[in-house]
This record gives sequence, structure tokens and C-alpha cells, in this order.
Amino acid sequence: MEFLDRLLTCADCGGEFIFTAGEQLFFFDKQFKNDPKRCKPCKSKRAGVGLKTATGPAAAGLSRTETRTECSECGIETTVPFKPTQGRPVLCRQCFKVKRAPTTGALVTAAATAEMVTGGSGERAAPSAELMAAAAAAPLA
Ligand SMILES: [Zn+2]
Ligand SMILES: [Zn+2]
Repeated sequence: MEFLDRLLTCADCGGEFIFTAGEQLFFFDKQFKNDPKRCKPCKSKRAGVGLKTATGPAAAGLSRTETRTECSECGIETTVPFKPTQGRPVLCRQCFKVKRAPTTGALVTAAATAEMVTGGSGERAAPSAELMAAAAAAPLA
């Protein structure tokens, strides 16, 4: 695969900037499908500002914090309604559904994640997980 420097237009300031071959290789490597939308100055401006304002409730019309993260299972970008804890798996909705399948090993993770996902919403997922665990522990004689 060969890459050539390309001239792109910044979506923010309308100025032209160079999407270098090296950057394209990086994007290709990371399997990013979209070209960068902003020049570097605008990007860093947004990154700096974004931390303070763009994640606020008003920015996206959200009533609670949505954190952008990567699914630890399939790696796609997803948003979760909580702050992911280091070392704990974060699943996208798709993988989360799969994980809920009652295999003993996954059950623990699924229950923990379910608790995290539903935490604060008033709906608890733990009881059903406990039921499932109890059923597994005491099979019909
Ligand atoms: Zn710009
Ligand atoms: Zn996933």
C-alpha cells in the first residue's frame, strides 16, 4: 500500500492542511475509515476545550455522563454511561448481549458489567444474575 500526501480542508476553520503519507499509514494501520476532519491546531483546540465543555450535559443533550471507550471484546468504539474502571472490561451493547449468555465464566463478568451499566438508573441487574447462579448451583435433582 502506498500513500501520498493529500490536501484536506479543515471542517472547523476551513483552512487546508496536509494529511501526510505517514498519517495515512497510521490511519490505515488503525483501520480508521474516515479522513481527519480538522487541522492540527483546531484538533488540539477542540481536545483542550472538549474536556471542559463538550462532555457536559448540554453539549450532546445528555442527562448523564457518556464516556467514549473501546469495547474490550471486539474493539469498536462505544459509549458507556459510566466511567470505565481501569482493568475492568467494557463491552459494547452487542458483546454485552453475547456475554450475558449463561456460561459460568462469563456470568461473573456479565453481572459485574450489568451492575455497572445499570448503576444509578434504579434498575438492578444483580438479582436475576443471582437467580441464575442459584439455579446453576442447585440443578434439578
Ligand atoms: Zn482548522
Ligand atoms: Zn464489542
